[in-house]
Amino acid sequence: MKILVVNAGSSSLKYQLFDMDTNAVLAKGNCERIGIDGVVTHKRPGKEDYKTNADFPDHKAAIACVLSLLTDKDKGVIASVEEISAVGHRFAHGGEKLKKSAVLGDQELEYLESIVGLNPLHGPPAISGLKACKEVMPSVNHVGVFDTSYYSDMQDYAYIYPIPYELYEKHKIRRYGFHGTSHRYVAAQAAEMFGNKNAKIITCHLGNGSSITATVNGKAVDTSMGFTPQDGVPMGTRSGAIDPTVVTFLQKAEGLTAEEADKILNKESGLSGVSGCGSDCRDIRDAAAAGNYRAQLAMKILCHNIKKIVGSYVAEMNGVDALVFTAGIGENDRDLREEVCKDMSFLGIAIDEEYNQNCPRGEVADITARGAKVKTYVIPTNEEYMIALDTQNLTK
Ligand code: AMP
Repeated sequence: MKILVVNAGSSSLKYQLFDMDTNAVLAKGNCERIGIDGVVTHKRPGKEDYKTNADFPDHKAAIACVLSLLTDKDKGVIASVEEISAVGHRFAHGGEKLKKSAVLGDQELEYLESIVGLNPLHGPPAISGLKACKEVMPSVNHVGVFDTSYYSDMQDYAYIYPIPYELYEKHKIRRYGFHGTSHRYVAAQAAEMFGNKNAKIITCHLGNGSSITATVNGKAVDTSMGFTPQDGVPMGTRSGAIDPTVVTFLQKAEGLTAEEADKILNKESGLSGVSGCGSDCRDIRDAAAAGNYRAQLAMKILCHNIKKIVGSYVAEMNGVDALVFTAGIGENDRDLREEVCKDMSFLGIAIDEEYNQNCPRGEVADITARGAKVKTYVIPTNEEYMIALDTQNLTK
């Protein structure tokens, strides 16, 4: 069974074609600069990457380009589009109703359109991508996989904010959680490695966007991201959690509109805002190593906040069996893992510092120190595979 996974952004459309019988990725790529001047990169394992300018004024043209590449005599990997059994679409937000991955019919599409206000950045392009794919591939099922759905089993006291309850009822302001597909994937892998699917697991997805999730018995019980992906630990350009009054204070003190305040907190804060060295963790690390105080401070703030959240989840779950690091920073920044896990022996967390510095990149690694009560793993995330798996399960 072959499944196409699509992740549509405002000016990009990423794709991966899976052969679910062998779990192999047959091809993957990215259509960028949709509606501007179009560039497509198409990759196949063991073959040279193909990159070219392409004319795609909209998502429909982009997906048509993807299908023609996938079926191309030279660059293709399948003989015809009919070989694609179903398409899985990544959605950041499924609102309160789409609690699980679902085949997207008219009703689901209508609901997704009704909640774009909750997800103004990612919702509209994901819907455009879905509509385009449905038009170009009308005879197969299209499945939506939602970042928020992993959190749909959380208790009300974990997702309701202590603001007037009527505001939750009226505007659906609550904790939704994001990156759920990644957390679900790595938590399941960790539970398997730990040998107990009921394990208590804390997963740290640390990338350009970052979030931490607590999982018990395969279900998320809490997460650091909230109403939007702005909450929790500091990120590349997002502040993460701050005293909410900072926002209104700033608006008054600097005479800012809501949009301007939002821009500061979403695009000019986090590691970038503190360090002044941009949002890429590697650049901040380089600056810190060269003695830049603000770069050093930014990394310390990040580690401090990760530690605080990990500790709070241990309290919430009355223990932890495994701690997982994933995504760009979690998988690659060895010093960050060391800093976060330092002085956590009270909680049973300790890592083998030498192996942490030397374990192979891009692979699952058990970096637990000998004798430590809690397992610490590095697990490369694979959201696309999870989307393909859900799509297969809903359509086979
Ligand atoms: P992601 O959003 O998961 O793609 O992660 C992107 C983040 O991972 C960026 O901040 C990168 O700087 C960071 N990253 C990637 N490789 C490394 C590395 N070797 N060391 C530190 N950070 C890295």
